[in-house]
Amino acid sequence: MGVATNWNEQKMTVNIIGAGIGGLTTAIALQRKGIKVQIYEQANEIKPVGSGIILANNAMQVYQKLGLKNKIENNGNPISSVNITLPDLTPMSSVDLKYFEKKYNCQNIAIHRATLQQILAEELKPNTLNLGYELSGIEDSDNKWLLRFKNKNTIESQITLGADGINSDVRKHLFPNVKIRNAFQVCWRGIVDIVLPLRFQNELNEAWGKEGRFGFVKIAANKVYWYALKSFKRDSSEHSIDSLSDYYSGYNETIRSIINTTPTNTIHTATIADLRPIKNWYKGNICLIGDAAHATTPNMGQGACQAIEDAHVLAECLDKFDTEKAFADFQKLRGAKVSKIVNTSWQIGRMAHWENPIATRLRNQLMKMTPRNLSRKHSEKMFELEHI
Ligand SMILES: Cc1cc2nc3c(=O)[nH]c(=O)nc-3n(C[C@H](O)[C@H](O)[C@H](O)COP(=O)(O)OP(=O)(O)OC[C@H]3O[C@@H](n4cnc5c(N)ncnc54)[C@H](O)[C@@H]3O)c2cc1C
Repeated sequence: MGVATNWNEQKMTVNIIGAGIGGLTTAIALQRKGIKVQIYEQANEIKPVGSGIILANNAMQVYQKLGLKNKIENNGNPISSVNITLPDLTPMSSVDLKYFEKKYNCQNIAIHRATLQQILAEELKPNTLNLGYELSGIEDSDNKWLLRFKNKNTIESQITLGADGINSDVRKHLFPNVKIRNAFQVCWRGIVDIVLPLRFQNELNEAWGKEGRFGFVKIAANKVYWYALKSFKRDSSEHSIDSLSDYYSGYNETIRSIINTTPTNTIHTATIADLRPIKNWYKGNICLIGDAAHATTPNMGQGACQAIEDAHVLAECLDKFDTEKAFADFQKLRGAKVSKIVNTSWQIGRMAHWENPIATRLRNQLMKMTPRNLSRKHSEKMFELEHI
């Protein structure tokens, strides 16, 4: 426990708005340091969308520090390779994750979101989570903040964290001019009971073709999480969920059978957006974390991983320093890495959806020619945690 902030003596509580992966992991990391935490979540129950998530090595290193590595590994499926392929699943580029598994003694885990959120929620101390608390207003009152909720409750908060996602109400309050950037891509996600051919058991494969992208990965015994993305010009209704099997009819047989086996009413549809990197994540004693601060497109599978890294770094900073320095250091330590990921992910998303056949052929050729050690080098920085 650091000297500057004596939490128990001052009896200060960190109030977190939002119980997504970022809010829950931050609460656990703070509680591990002996810091008091309350989470306020708008939903009446923790009910994540029916989809999977890939926890890359950097996120798993954080969970290793929090003592959750084995639990997560035992409930998910390890991924040792990430491949970008042609529609017939011929690899164009591949990142071999075994090197990082050895380096950090951590695997990359694909897991059901509901399973992960349950593991995290169970790890909280009793009476940490307040459900049915939708933040409706924040008022400044003598260096404390009044947090008002739609259920008519108000709390006085000295330290507040906005972990309320890309559409963050906390951010709208602090920085009303920040705008969400539309990627003009629609994304369908699903989970299906299916047995994958042996060679795909421990890989994430993402096929790029002119009809869009299709990714799939095993998350548990005979359970596969998949996602599909297509560009649109004006709005996502240009594409229909009922036409999924037509869009991907020219893709590999495994992809076709995944689509055909998934009940349409279980497929989740979303449009893709991010936040252009913003300069400031905090004001006084309120700080943004996770998607609220730096939402990114899913093209590098790093959004939640970065929220998880936030949890680790912010808990360390709040343990060591007073709030103002903790927030300033947190942003200094995390800002450059997160901005690079947001920008690179945005570029990958654009490149993946090129339609010009000449440019596409050239892109594919270049990807095939990229040496494996260069792909590894790109991942090296991403998987390395900040030294605090
Ligand atoms: C298609 C897709 C695939 C993805 N795949 C991956 C992946 O494989 N790996 C990865 O690392 N990331 C992935 N991501 C990104 C990841 O989902 C997000 O980055 C991550 O969920 C952000 O977590 P968060 O806790 O910051 O925000 P959220 O998960 O958005 O949680 C915010 C919480 O705040 C609550 N809330 C909102 N407003 C209020 C309010 N006013 N009052 C109270 N509570 C409120 C919400 O109900 C919610 O529970 C993907 C994203 C998409 C769209």
